[in-house]
Amino acid sequence: MSSLLYIVGIGPGKVEAMTMEAKQALKESEVIAGYTVYVDLIRPYFKEKEYIMTGMKQEKERCKLALQSAQSGKTTSVVCSGDAGVYGMAALLIEMGKEYPNIEIQVIAGVTAALSGAAVLGAPIGHDFAVISLSDLMTPWEKIEKRLACAAMADLIICLYNPSSRKRKDYLKKACEIILKYQPESLVCGYVKNIGREGKEAKILSLGELKDTTVDMFTTVFIGNSQTKQIKNQMVTPRGYQL
Ligand code: SAH
Repeated sequence: MSSLLYIVGIGPGKVEAMTMEAKQALKESEVIAGYTVYVDLIRPYFKEKEYIMTGMKQEKERCKLALQSAQSGKTTSVVCSGDAGVYGMAALLIEMGKEYPNIEIQVIAGVTAALSGAAVLGAPIGHDFAVISLSDLMTPWEKIEKRLACAAMADLIICLYNPSSRKRKDYLKKACEIILKYQPESLVCGYVKNIGREGKEAKILSLGELKDTTVDMFTTVFIGNSQTKQIKNQMVTPRGYQL
């Protein structure tokens, strides 16, 4: 008998931003596993479920418990914020799932912060863009610096995930300094905090100003390209249509 394990991206937070497919997977599941904060976001809408909750940095444990739950015959979902494949747990779960030949793992796409945050700001990623995480927990900082430099050199729009944490307060400043080697201080940038959640906050500012701004880990940062501009209170990167 084979059992089903979904890995579900629930979008930025509010239930309206979840795809119908994600909702359907959760509805079908007997058990839902996730990081406490995300479980709390969905629990009111799926009251009748059995929940497996684990804390931050317990990703392996969460995957193991979810795999064991599916193994026992219960359809199970692991929830991630945004999309489960973007700095999420989809790859880890599939890797750990190698040991469980009877479990079929299905990935359900979700709206990642680069997309939901872009919509809050306007249309900042209307052209080629790069997504870079400033977390050096699993990537050496030198590699992150290289990726930032290459993206800025190529005039890509850059979406920064994990722009800060308690131990890495100055990483955004460092990132801006690298980008400033290739882009001007006046470059149009923006950030969005708590997308789709209580306390949502968005701001458009220059790269020079961004360098001296402190953001928290619930923020996604957008660094424009040379064509990006501010129109009224929105950040826009034109695709190139002649008006
Ligand atoms: N899988 C998630 C990303 C996890 S990494 C996704 O696809 O969105 C965590 C980082 O994502 C945060 O540090 C932040 O930069 C960004 N992020 C995720 N949810 C967010 C939200 N609701 N508001 C703002 N940023 C968010």
